[in-house]
Amino acid sequence: MDVPLLDLTGQYAAFKDELLAAVAAVIDSQKFINGPPVRELEALVADYCQCAAAVGVSSGTDALLCSLMALGIGAGDEVITSPYTFFATAGVITRTGARPVFVDIQPDTFNIDPAKIPAAVTDRTRAVIPVHLFGQTADMDPILTLAAERGLAVIEDAAQAIGAVYKGRKAGSMGTTGCLSFYPTKNLGALGDGGMIVTNDAQLADRLACGRDHGQHPRYYYSWVGGNFRLDSIQAACLAVKFRHLEGWSARRRRNAARYDELLAGCDAVITPVVREGNVSIFNQYVIRTSRRDELMDHLKAHNIGCGIYYPLSLHLQECFQDLGYVQGDFPQSERASAESLALPIYPELTDEQIVFVAETVKGFFA
Ligand SMILES: *Cc1c(COP(=O)(O)O)cnc(C)c1O
Repeated sequence: MDVPLLDLTGQYAAFKDELLAAVAAVIDSQKFINGPPVRELEALVADYCQCAAAVGVSSGTDALLCSLMALGIGAGDEVITSPYTFFATAGVITRTGARPVFVDIQPDTFNIDPAKIPAAVTDRTRAVIPVHLFGQTADMDPILTLAAERGLAVIEDAAQAIGAVYKGRKAGSMGTTGCLSFYPTKNLGALGDGGMIVTNDAQLADRLACGRDHGQHPRYYYSWVGGNFRLDSIQAACLAVKFRHLEGWSARRRRNAARYDELLAGCDAVITPVVREGNVSIFNQYVIRTSRRDELMDHLKAHNIGCGIYYPLSLHLQECFQDLGYVQGDFPQSERASAESLALPIYPELTDEQIVFVAETVKGFFA
């Protein structure tokens, strides 16, 4: 039996005709940029994320970058985030001229540890970017309280967490902005790159909308420098088709996760993912921990089971961030997670036979 880490072909086959029709309609309209499908998708996603407004952008990375730029964050500023995340979260901070300041993670959720944030705040801190890793939101209440006290913006990196819930609130709706990615491997994936910024601040939404178009408003007048961060109409039209299935897919991922939890329960060498009380995860990834991670990975690959390491090197140790002055040992939880974490296949179309096969192969390794 073959179990890839992710297989998008099954889901595509189910509504190929709908997608092709959506693409054809955009081509017929010849309105490729910021056309009606973009506004329709923005309305759908704003509503789904419990937000007043949504601004379609070219990627999750650009959602983060456009948020920072619209908030005027740049040289001389510091932005606090997690060292255990996809590179883009920290890369965008550096691209604005600001300085990423890392804070270690909680070992159970892999998310930024709010208790460690206050010690990292300085007079230069302008924002915090909590990342909702693997589909579960960070512990937002203490972050929001601190941000309110210190006058900091909160940019939620919800690239892996569209639809995730924290104490009744949707990912992306709690901070100053929420940044979504439609990269094909995310729970809602485009047929290429795409992203969206959600916010409950109508004025900021206007600023973001002009920021994605170089800061233009009105046409050919620029009061600040934005970028080309626009979402293609073709992507928006396809995303609207797939959006109708999002809740069902995320529910299937949760069901698959529950099945793994059950099957791996007796395996003491493996720590299964922890979803904290009050959280609903969308399980963009199902990430286990084990001290024998590399050997387990080889074993799974030898049995044609796809698995992946998110992420093998903590960001504070990346070559491009050496000038920040961090060293090995600065963020022990993040470093340890890099050595112990392993993502198993969790995509919605997995069959029960496949899940059982993966779990049995994991258990077989430790037996
Ligand atoms: C995918 C991802 C991004 C970037 O999204 P793109 O659409 O690929 O630019 C940012 N942050 C996290 C945590 C991600 O997983």
